[in-house]
Amino acid sequence: MRDVIIIGGGLAGLQAAVFTAKAGEETLLLDTEESLVLNTANIQNLIGFDSVSGQELLRSGKEKLREFNGEIKNEEVTALARTDSGLKVTTDTGDYEAEYIVLASAGIHDYAEDLVEFEEGVEGPYMMERHVKTDQANKAANRIYAAGLANTWEYQSSVAIGEGAKAAVNLLTDKYGEPYTDHDT
Ligand SMILES: Cc1cc2nc3c(=O)[nH]c(=O)nc-3n(C[C@H](O)[C@H](O)[C@H](O)COP(=O)(O)OP(=O)(O)OC[C@H]3O[C@@H](n4cnc5c(N)ncnc54)[C@H](O)[C@@H]3O)c2cc1C
Repeated sequence: MRDVIIIGGGLAGLQAAVFTAKAGEETLLLDTEESLVLNTANIQNLIGFDSVSGQELLRSGKEKLREFNGEIKNEEVTALARTDSGLKVTTDTGDYEAEYIVLASAGIHDYAEDLVEFEEGVEGPYMMERHVKTDQANKAANRIYAAGLANTWEYQSSVAIGEGAKAAVNLLTDKYGEPYTDHDT
């Protein structure tokens, strides 16, 4: 039983995973390595960078996650279900259990069909057909959070990264029963 499983290792999922792993939660990230950000080699709207490629953002995110003992597996999630003790994630390779889940798989969430509600996406190039419905704390259902293009149409890297952080902070707040803050010295 892991503490947290993050489904999707693009920008939102990686950022959420870095927060939960840094907090000391046993974190597993499951990803099929098809992040939309791989389409861009020249992101200029992120503070802290003159320009950065999607590939480099993902590489450094994975490195940071491993630094905090997060685990990454290249597996496709095919089902998500509740059990008596938590949530069971089924992949093309096996089953995993966790206390909390973050959905961060952009437009793909058929595996969560029975556990969360959806809202229609907006029209436009590259837009997702639908999004996971969440509250303002990025919570989709009991112990299930969603982040990035999984739950919003707002289509920029910085938004996905911020959404990932927000989902993780709210998940940790729920788990600890008090507002979670992450302060470095
Ligand atoms: C053509 C294009 C150009 C862009 N250019 C810019 C730009 O210049 N500047 C900018 O700020 N933003 C840009 N973006 C937007 C940016 O790519 C997105 O905002 C960002 O990738 C969203 O992050 P995310 O984590 O929500 O989704 P993604 O980064 O797409 O991550 C989703 C992850 O989930 C994984 N996944 C999906 N289904 C499953 C499953 N069943 N099991 C396991 N893993 C799964 C995928 O493999 C993927 O790695 C561009 C996007 C596109 C398409």
